[in-house]
Amino acid sequence: MVLVRKGVATPNPERLVCIAARGDYMKDSPWTKSLEEILKPIKGDTIEEKMENFIVQLVLAGHWGPFEHPTITLGIEGMSRVTLAQLTRHRLATFDIQSGRFVSLKRLTPHDFIWPPSFSQDSVKTRDGGIREITIPKEKREELVTGLWQKVVDVYSSLVEGGVPKEDARYVMPTATPVNGTMTVNARSLMHIIAIRSFGDAQWEIRDLVSQMLNIAKEWMPITFGTFEKRLMSKRGILAP
Ligand SMILES: Cc1cc2nc3c(=O)[nH]c(=O)nc-3n(C[C@H](O)[C@H](O)[C@H](O)COP(=O)(O)OP(=O)(O)OC[C@H]3O[C@@H](n4cnc5c(N)ncnc54)[C@H](O)[C@@H]3O)c2cc1C
Repeated sequence: MVLVRKGVATPNPERLVCIAARGDYMKDSPWTKSLEEILKPIKGDTIEEKMENFIVQLVLAGHWGPFEHPTITLGIEGMSRVTLAQLTRHRLATFDIQSGRFVSLKRLTPHDFIWPPSFSQDSVKTRDGGIREITIPKEKREELVTGLWQKVVDVYSSLVEGGVPKEDARYVMPTATPVNGTMTVNARSLMHIIAIRSFGDAQWEIRDLVSQMLNIAKEWMPITFGTFEKRLMSKRGILAP
């Protein structure tokens, strides 16, 4: 199952958003002022209240530019190659992906491959919110799939042991093969990715992935991603005009 970990992230990201955005409306450089001076015209009794009011205002107005300054690096473990292909379609993020040319897959067991819920449940939700009954018995599905995956690893191992380069042997591996990666993204682009990958018509694994990203992002930028979740998540993508 895919796991997302927080790597490194811009410290005080919401302070940075406030400084950058208020600079749009100030005669002097905001970098020569204290946060108290910068936020003086904003409603609120404390700095925290002012920051919250200002950030909520920016998010709801769709004033996204300031959210491009804070960036976060996330470690992603055990995603399928299906999800890797979907995630890396997002051009406004930077990725490093474990290499199948260098990393051997010989030690994988069928248990390590990414197992869709429909391989073991009796019914699953469809993309349009309905229910699909699965008629092939669970035991049969598990037998077919684990048998295939074991066979694939055996073939891969035989090829590598017989001198075939790992970069070529990997062509026999299924799209359920787990892969790790590192992703760096700014807050604006992260909101966009979460927004379009959170709904029923996005696949279950990438929905799981972005829900973990949202939890990490809410700890990192609580006002921004809290407002985004409560008020904007239903919008399909926030970067497009
Ligand atoms: C439910 C679902 C089903 C999908 N099915 C398919 C499918 O069957 N086949 C398929 O190929 N893809 C599919 N996709 C992928 C989709 O088409 C996008 O390529 C992917 O989601 C990346 O998102 P994005 O276009 O918003 O781009 P990002 O790279 O995340 O870019 C963010 C935003 O920047 C702007 N932008 C970036 N680059 C450009 C550009 N060159 N020109 C203009 N604006 C740009 C756009 O406003 C874009 O929304 C699917 C996505 C979803 C969510």
